[in-house]
Amino acid sequence: MAASHLEIYRALAKSNCGRCQLPSCLAFAAAAAAGQKLLADCPLLDEATKERLTATLHGRPEQELYKFVKDLSQLEQQVAALDFTVIAPRIGAAVKDGRLAIPSFGKAFEIDCQGRMRSECHVMPWVQYPLLAYAASSQHQLPTGAWIGFRDLPGGLDLHNLFCKRCELALKKLADAHPGLLHDLAELFQGEEAAGFEADTALILHPLPHFPILICWQAPEDGLESSLNILFDACCKVNLPIKAAFSLCIGLAQMFEKIALLHR
Ligand code: SF4
Repeated sequence: MAASHLEIYRALAKSNCGRCQLPSCLAFAAAAAAGQKLLADCPLLDEATKERLTATLHGRPEQELYKFVKDLSQLEQQVAALDFTVIAPRIGAAVKDGRLAIPSFGKAFEIDCQGRMRSECHVMPWVQYPLLAYAASSQHQLPTGAWIGFRDLPGGLDLHNLFCKRCELALKKLADAHPGLLHDLAELFQGEEAAGFEADTALILHPLPHFPILICWQAPEDGLESSLNILFDACCKVNLPIKAAFSLCIGLAQMFEKIALLHR
C-alpha cells in the first residue's frame, strides 16, 4: 500500500526548516504523497527511511525518478564549477546577472553559481534534473532535422518499455480524450506544427533549446486504434543522458495531464 502523507510526516524531522522549499513538514508530506515532491528534497531525511518510503510510493513517476536524481546535489556542484559564459552560447542559453538562464517551454530557468535553480514556474525535480544534466553535458550538438525513436538513443533500449507506458501511452490517452489538446499545446509552448508526417497532428516542441521532440498522433479511424509516437532529433543522442531524457518526457506527460484537466 502506498505511503500516506501522515506516514511520511511521521518520518520527517518536523523542524519546518523550509529547506525543501515548502513552508512546513506537513506541506512537504502532502506534496510527497501526491507525487509533487521527491523524498530526496528533504535533506534531513536519512537514506534508510527514504528507501523504505520510496518503496511504498513505487509506481509514481516522481518517486521512480528518485532512483535517478538521488544525487542532484552532485550535479549542482558539477554545474556550479562551469564557466557559464563559455557554455551558455554552446547550449542555447544566456547569462543573466551571473546566472545561467536556460529557456524551457518559453520560460527561463536560472541556475546560480552554486548550481541552485529558480524560475517563475515551480521547479519540480523532473525538470531540475534534466536541466542540470543538459548544462553539465560535456558534448553538445545542434539539431539535425533527422528524427529517431527513444530506443535509438544511447541506453534507450533498457528504458524503452517504461518510456512507452509512462510517456507515449499517457499522451495517447490524453490526445484521444482531448483531440484539440495538441494544437493548444503548440500555441502554449511555442511549438511548431510539422508537415510531411503520416499523422493527424505532428508537433515539434523544444523542452530544451537543443532538444527538439516530435509528437505524432493519429486519430482512431475505421475501427483502427489511435497511435502516438514521440521522436527525438538525432542531436538528442549527445545532448542529454538517457535517464535525464526519460525524466524530461515523464515530466512532460505529467504537465500535459494537468493542462488537459483544464481543457474543454
Ligand atoms: S526540509 Fe524536511 S525538515 Fe525541513 S521543512 Fe522540509 S520536510 Fe521539514
